[in-house]
Amino acid sequence: MRQTDIAIIGGGLAGSTAAAMLGRAGIASVLIDPHPIYPPDFRCEKLDSSQVAVLTKTGLADAILPATTHDDTVWIARFGHLIDRRPGDQHGIMYDTLVNTMRAAIPANVETLYDKAVDIRTSDKQQTVALSSGEKISARLIVLANGLNISLRHNIGITRTVVSPCHSITLGFDLAPRGRERFDFGALTYYPESAADCAAYLTLFPVRGAMRANLMVYRDMDDPWLRECRYDMHKTLFELMPNLRRLTGDIEITSPVRIRPADLYVTQGHRQPGIVLVGDAFCTSCPAAGTGTTKVFTDVQRLCSVHIPAWLATNGMSTSKIAAFYDDPVKQACDQACAEKAYSLKSMSIDTGLAGHANRWLRFIVRSAIGQLRTLREPRSPHTTARP
Ligand SMILES: Cc1cc2nc3c(=O)[nH]c(=O)nc-3n(C[C@H](O)[C@H](O)[C@H](O)COP(=O)(O)OP(=O)(O)OC[C@H]3O[C@@H](n4cnc5c(N)ncnc54)[C@H](O)[C@@H]3O)c2cc1C
Repeated sequence: MRQTDIAIIGGGLAGSTAAAMLGRAGIASVLIDPHPIYPPDFRCEKLDSSQVAVLTKTGLADAILPATTHDDTVWIARFGHLIDRRPGDQHGIMYDTLVNTMRAAIPANVETLYDKAVDIRTSDKQQTVALSSGEKISARLIVLANGLNISLRHNIGITRTVVSPCHSITLGFDLAPRGRERFDFGALTYYPESAADCAAYLTLFPVRGAMRANLMVYRDMDDPWLRECRYDMHKTLFELMPNLRRLTGDIEITSPVRIRPADLYVTQGHRQPGIVLVGDAFCTSCPAAGTGTTKVFTDVQRLCSVHIPAWLATNGMSTSKIAAFYDDPVKQACDQACAEKAYSLKSMSIDTGLAGHANRWLRFIVRSAIGQLRTLREPRSPHTTARP
């Protein structure tokens, strides 16, 4: 049986980041994932400045950021009007590139096995992972980073509860200006005009030489509107946001439209000896709130730089040791902030009551005021570029 200190199951963003951090710290680790190259997958497609800040704490920002497309100013618009040119620090990167770049940062001292974990056995002292090839790995700790996959956990009594089914739906596609070489903006966030639009926002950002769009909506997956999007995204987009054209001019959709719902779920029964859950394996967050990567980096950074080194310093891997990770105040604050953002963004976006209207108008007025102040402080080209 292969022996190691840490067996990491899942080589997505969480597992690969953990493998890179542990390898750099010289902690004996094995990473298990069926895919030698992480395949194209519709997930997070950009990192914002707060996510880069946590990534920096993992020590891996220098390995990742060169693979991203940076934009430093985001136009904020609503009702067809540019209301702010916010200094931004967005880094566009497709999810498979993000994970594969992270994997490239895993040092050679971490062994990667391209296989599927099919069974796990845990105890206070030693853990066992069985692979589909029949091989077994013995480890002092299992890091379960297998994302949305619900297998493996049931036989040790860890369960998952969906707390908000289809909390939001993300649509992703590439677009290009029609009849012009480029857009006037580097990146744009466009807010819907009414709560009846059932949308949080549209974000346009550069990635791999194209302009990418993520449209965040709150609908049912069987809503015929989604079928219309697949059939004619151009028409559906401008029906939803008719004044968007004043900022973008005419456009063409240059890629297939990807549509993906996200459930919010939480885990129960996870306080167990010998195993710790990170990233989506522990709980999901809302893509519209854009916090999944924040949770992944926070989990992994706290686990690999604080808790695992302390746990390995003494014998055994008791439940009380593992609990220190779930009770970590930094992790708990992050999880709570991500959950609150998921719910507050949804109610702010679709609440048709008086309070909802008031909130949206207040947000619009505050954003406009900030934009005006910025223009006064940093005068540059005229503050209106809307197209007729
Ligand atoms: C449509 C969409 C848009 C999103 N947009 C954003 C955004 O804008 N900003 C943001 O911050 N977050 C966003 N997120 C969330 C973010 O992408 C996720 O939180 C993050 O990708 C989770 O990473 P992970 O490593 O936990 O899971 P994953 O990346 O899913 O990794 C799981 C890994 O486990 C492996 N695996 C599974 N089962 C086994 C097994 N039995 N044995 C071995 N390996 C196994 C899989 O092959 C995979 O490699 C979005 C999510 C979605 C769905």
